[in-house]
Formats: sequence, structure tokens, C-alpha cells
Amino acid sequence: MRRGTVYLVGAGPGDPKLITVRGQELLRAADVVVYDHLVSPRLLTACSPHAKLVYVGKEADRHAARQQAINRLLVREARADKTVVRLKGGDPFVFGRGGEEALSLARAKIAYEVVPGVTSAIGVPAYAGIPVTHRGLSSSFAVITGHEDPTKEGSAIKWAHLATSCDTVVCLMGVGRLPMIAAQLIRHGRRGSTPCAVIEWGTAPRQRTVTGTLRTITGLAKRATVQPPAILVVGDVTRLRRQLKWFERRLLFGKRILVTRASDKADTFADQLETLGAEVEQLPAIELGPVRQNGLLREAITGFPRPDWVFFTSPEGIGWFARVLRAARQDLRWLSGCHIGAIGSKTAAAIEERGLHVDFVPKQFSQEGVLEGLPRRVLNGKRALILCAEESRDVLAQGLRGRGCEVKKLPIYRTLVPRALATGLTTLFKRPFDYVTVTSASCVEHLWTALRTGGEADLFRRLRFASIGPVTSSSVRAHGGRVVVEANPSTIEGLVHAMVKHLR
Ligand code: SAH
Repeated sequence: MRRGTVYLVGAGPGDPKLITVRGQELLRAADVVVYDHLVSPRLLTACSPHAKLVYVGKEADRHAARQQAINRLLVREARADKTVVRLKGGDPFVFGRGGEEALSLARAKIAYEVVPGVTSAIGVPAYAGIPVTHRGLSSSFAVITGHEDPTKEGSAIKWAHLATSCDTVVCLMGVGRLPMIAAQLIRHGRRGSTPCAVIEWGTAPRQRTVTGTLRTITGLAKRATVQPPAILVVGDVTRLRRQLKWFERRLLFGKRILVTRASDKADTFADQLETLGAEVEQLPAIELGPVRQNGLLREAITGFPRPDWVFFTSPEGIGWFARVLRAARQDLRWLSGCHIGAIGSKTAAAIEERGLHVDFVPKQFSQEGVLEGLPRRVLNGKRALILCAEESRDVLAQGLRGRGCEVKKLPIYRTLVPRALATGLTTLFKRPFDYVTVTSASCVEHLWTALRTGGEADLFRRLRFASIGPVTSSSVRAHGGRVVVEANPSTIEGLVHAMVKHLR
């Protein structure tokens, strides 16, 4: 990346994954990112934490003065030797004033580069199942804007030519201009029965498509209260949508789901949900931290005679245990000769990833499951060590004792309430969630406490919880909450599957 350069980067139409490789690479390297209203906030999380992020507002109030201020800002930052990314929705050179910004940079003799993006004019119809050209139906398309420069006298759009000479017309617009656009096309010779579609928030999980004809679309869009951003597609190709609406057919399409897992683990879960079309919000309700008595822990490990069985009750356990051992100047060889038990498949996978063999995983992924799966003769007279969270339940320890084991339960990490949990709760819940996912009892407890202290105990009772398993579910119910979905098996995949099944 050259310093003192401005990169005009297309962010794509909404789905943050539609940015180009070049665009993403520049975002990571930028000192300054100047971004627009329609840019996905998710993209900004890829920026360096040191980058200065400058929001330059809504397209709709981009007056000439405002645009000049942006041009000046870009020049100023570049002259200060910064790597500047000017991040724009869709493609920077399609109705994005990218050309004006490039001209101003050229005039000021600032180095610049243009990184094209997926324009909403083509990408949004694609996500609605509409190819802008199609053999036999459309061999040309035009892209026009419905919100022309209001200072312009008359119209710069040659409606008379456009209405009939182009097979598909895509209109990026202010939604309020829809009646004018439809009327112009009809007045200039386009059939009133031409099929059309209006697509709101295209490529995002909240994408909505309204279809009709040139004559009916205005009324239909109004009835559906279509809001910006939206585009209009006019032409026979819109009919293909009936067969091709791949995005809107996804199993969790349009569902709003809250993920409350710890942030380091939320991503793969969120990814799975998004791949199925869900709109995912993340509110980490737990954070993991070291136990308070680390000194004692070290002693316990060095002092405790080597156990016959070591049980891990979560995928995080092995990592924390390795840390504890390191602090005691030891390593995982400490486990040599021990049988290893894991509470579930993910816990087992985390252990095996470190090259250790797991001897036992129960059929039912819970402390009760472990007890059910191991016969008394395997345990009687043996020494067992349980490595768990500070808040972990006592079921396994007691059960093992009942089966003749000498048991030590050793908390190696604890769950904390993230500081950010209390803030922004009310705004987050303003739009209802189809599912609030909870993946541990601590998640539930923290969420409950945060809502209750915020005076929102009632809200907790109205939520639709999707729970990872029976223990988490009873924690929801203990506070009067409603579990609508419970995973079986108790894994993230199980939880995703359970929601999909519930919707069917
Ligand atoms: N440079 C952009 C267009 C900027 S003009 C591009 O190439 O896509 C802004 C207009 O684009 C909005 O008014 C709307 O009509 C359209 N638009 C942008 N993103 C959209 C989306 N996700 N869904 C529907 N329309 C969108």
C-alpha cells in the first residue's frame, strides 16, 4: 500500500462478503477509512484498531457542499501521508459520486486507485433471483437513477429512448420516486403489464422483494411499506425469480437470531446461521477468565496424585488446563497414563486437536450423560479429576463419588459478565428476535441479570429461547423464560438443525 494514496473502494451492495479481495486487503491496511451510509458495519470490523473511521453520512443529504467537504477531507488526509480508503456502497463509479472524488484527487495531484465493487444494480437483482440479461428474454439492460440531482432543470434521463429501447431497466432510487418512474416509462411506450420487482435491502438477510407490473408496482410497494435502500427492476427477466429466488429460499432466510456466546466462539456459529440466510446479531453474554486462586490451583495440580480419569466438561477446558500447567512449569505430559473423558463431541475434538486420545465421550452430552455411560466397575476405587469452570455444576463429582471414586473437582477458569453486555440492550431488542440462542447456563444467568437490572425482566419472559440442551433450558425456565427450541445433540450444529426443523 502506498502512503499518501486514496483508494476509492467499492464495498458491494450489503452482504459484507461481497467486497473484493483487493478491497478487504486495503481496508486492513488503511490509516483512515471514510465511509458511507450503506456500507455494512461488519466490514469496518476488519479495519485496524488504529484506523480512524470517518462516517460521512446518508446519500440522501449529500449536498454539493457536503461533497466538497468530503473531497477536501480525502486530499487533506492523503497530504498528511495517510493511506486512505474511501469506502462506498456498491461500485464507486455507479451513482456514487466516485468520479467526482477521483477528479478532485487528480486535480490536487494525489495518487489514487479505484477498486470496483459489486454494484447493487446487478448484485441485488441476482440475490432476488433476477438475471439482468437472459437469452430470449433480455439482451440489454440500462441502469438509471430515480433521484436525480434536484438542482438539475428538467430530466437528464432520456425517457423516450429508454422506455422501449432497453429490455431490462434497473432503477436505483429514492423510494418516493417510484410513481414518477413507472409513469414515465408507461408514458413513453413501455407496456403497463411489464413485470417488475422492487427489492429492499438486497443481499442482506432482511432483503424483501415485491413483484407486480409497471402499472401495479407503486401501489404494491406502498402497501408493503418499502423503505430505502431499494431498487426497481423492470422487464420480463423478473419473472425468472419464481424459479431462481435462491437466496430467499434459504432455510433460515429472514429470521433474526441473537447469538450470546463468548465473542471468540461466536463467529463460526454466526457464520453457520448466516449461510442459511439468517440475520444475526451478536451479544456476547459471557467471557472467560482465569480463576482467582491461581496459586492454589498450581499446588493442587502438583500436589494431587496422578488420577486414573481426567474429565473435561467444556471445549475450553483443555486450553485453560494447558495454561495452568505452563504456569506450574509443566505441560500436557502431566496427563500421560490417565484416561481422558470429554463431556461432548466438541470437547473431545478440542482435546484430540492437541494430539491426545480421548477414551470416553457419552451419548448424551451432559454431566448426567457421562455418569450414565460409565459403568460402576470402571470407576470403583479410582481417582478422578474434573477440570471445569468455576460455576460448573456438581452433578458429575457427586455421581462419581457415588460410584466409589475419589474425586477432585478443579475449576481452571471462570465465566465473567462482559462489560459491554448491559449497554445497548434496549435498542438491540427493539426489533423482535425469532430466536435468542443460549449455549450455557451462565449465558442465561448473565442475560437474565443484565435484563433484570435494566428493568426489562418482562422482556426476558417474552423472548423465544433456542437452547443448547436440558441444563441450559432449565436455567431459562427458572426465570420464567420460554424455550421454543432445544438442541439434540447438544452441539452448535444440533442447535442450528433444531431451529431449522422448528421452522418447517
Ligand atoms: N454505488 C452504488 C449506488 C449508490 S446510489 C452501487 O453501485 O450500488 C444508492 C442507491 O443504490 C440506493 O438508493 C438504492 O437504490 C441502491 N442500493 C444500494 N444498496 C442497495 C441494497 N442493498 N438494496 C437495494 N438497493 C440498494
